[in-house]
Amino acid sequence: MKLNKDNYFSQDANRHYMSVSQFKSFLPSYGGCEAGAMAKINGEYESAPIAAFMEGHYVHAWNEGTLDEFKANNPDLYSSRGATAGQLKSNFQHCNKMIEVLENDPLVMKALAGRKEVIFTTELFGIPWKVMLDSYQKNLFADVKTMREMSGKFWNTEIGVYENFIYHYGYHIQMAIYAEVEKIESGRKDWLLPHMVIVTKQDPPDHEIIYFDYDAIEQGLHIVSKHIERVKAVKSGSVEPVRCEKCEYCRATKKIQTIKHFSELAVY
Ligand SMILES: [Zn+2]
Repeated sequence: MKLNKDNYFSQDANRHYMSVSQFKSFLPSYGGCEAGAMAKINGEYESAPIAAFMEGHYVHAWNEGTLDEFKANNPDLYSSRGATAGQLKSNFQHCNKMIEVLENDPLVMKALAGRKEVIFTTELFGIPWKVMLDSYQKNLFADVKTMREMSGKFWNTEIGVYENFIYHYGYHIQMAIYAEVEKIESGRKDWLLPHMVIVTKQDPPDHEIIYFDYDAIEQGLHIVSKHIERVKAVKSGSVEPVRCEKCEYCRATKKIQTIKHFSELAVY
């Protein structure tokens, strides 16, 4: 299956290829759930569109240079009634402010230079993967992230420690897979250094450029190697997916199996 911008996020593409977000969607430690992941891949369940996703798409469209087209194709960005009818909704007006912050920082514009939304596919861990690099140039590639804020600590129930948002959301895994896939497909000897350009939804927005070194790439690939055989087995249907009973999909399809003692309720 040949991928382009129109079919990259399609059901067929998700069935044929593994992506970093699909991989994480199988893993409870990254908020994933095997049963929920399979229901989405099989088209049995679609999560409700979240405003935060559209805000991310809005900023990505700016990075790609297609914001006008994006706005024209998404009338929902505009308010349809009241005194503000016809104007951009306030959260997207705030996205404009976030974009302005990025545009006015020369180092950000340098990090985001190059080709945009570049798709690579390759075989890794015995299965086909797809990645899309937001910005891709000779010495680096960069991913654009919009988020609520960068500070904050997140409790990792598996290993019992607080961690930053990079580890919590598995962004080092994403950057590691991108670096590895690019390395294989370009025939390069070494990894390109992954960068992330982050802009927050705070007012005024904060922003940062973060890079990942080879240790982080190795660590990210190691995490994938540890879990990929299970993910492959579930995705291929050879083992039954486990329900987490916490995610959107599980809550929507939940039937209680046993009555819990009150002390069993999890604290974290
Ligand atoms: Zn679940």
